[in-house]
Order: sequence, then C-alpha cells, then structure tokens
Amino acid sequence: MDFRDVNFYFLILIMGSTKFFTLKEARLSNNCPECYSTDGLEITFKQKFTENAFYKAITNDTAYDIYCYNCDTSIFPIQWTDDIERVVDYQQRSINPKPKSIKLKKLAWIIILLDLLLFIIVVLIIMGIINI
Ligand SMILES: [Zn+2]
Repeated sequence: MDFRDVNFYFLILIMGSTKFFTLKEARLSNNCPECYSTDGLEITFKQKFTENAFYKAITNDTAYDIYCYNCDTSIFPIQWTDDIERVVDYQQRSINPKPKSIKLKKLAWIIILLDLLLFIIVVLIIMGIINI
C-alpha cells in the first residue's frame, strides 16, 4: 500500500455515502402507463441518510419511486396519469418520516475520549502534577 492508497481510504472514511432506507411500500391498483397491467405498480417511499465512519445522520429528505413488476420498468413522474398522481398524493400523506437526527459512532466517541485524555494530561503537565 503506498501513500495514495492511504489517502484514498481516508477520503472514504470521511466522506461516507448517501443512502436511503425504505419508509413504506405500497401496491397501487392503477394501470401501468407502460404495459397497462393493473397489478404491477408498486410505490416505495424512502428517506435519505448519510453515513461515514464517524456518524450516521438522518436527513429530512424523502423520495419515492414507482416501479412496475409486471413489465420491470421504473415509472417516472412524467409518465404518471392523473389517477397515479392522486394515489401518490394520498399515499404521501400517510408516510411517517423519521425526525432529523445525528448519531455518533464508536470511532467518533473514541477520538473524543482520546482528545479529552490528551487535554487532561497536558493540563496536568502544565500544573506540574506530572513531570516528564
Ligand atoms: Zn408495467
């Protein structure tokens, strides 16, 4: 492993990634705009969170997508019929997003504790309690 590799891993550690977790999945009985089947559409509501080595943070951002399991196609908003829009509206009111939050991971706590320990040692040296 050379220096560039170390840099790369450090970057991944700091930056982390943006992910989604599923809030709700619901079958829709609407016609699929692609294959006209009435039993293929499913809507998934998701909430965004970011995670790196130090913390996991839930954001206020929610997203949804509609997928047809009959014709295996993502149905984008531009293809929605009025009926689909109404159902999405209705479903959206029933979802319960989690409140925005941030949770520190063990690594962050270890670094905070090490910093605190270092601070205490420095103070003790300055006060002459510890001699080096
Ligand atoms: Zn379809």
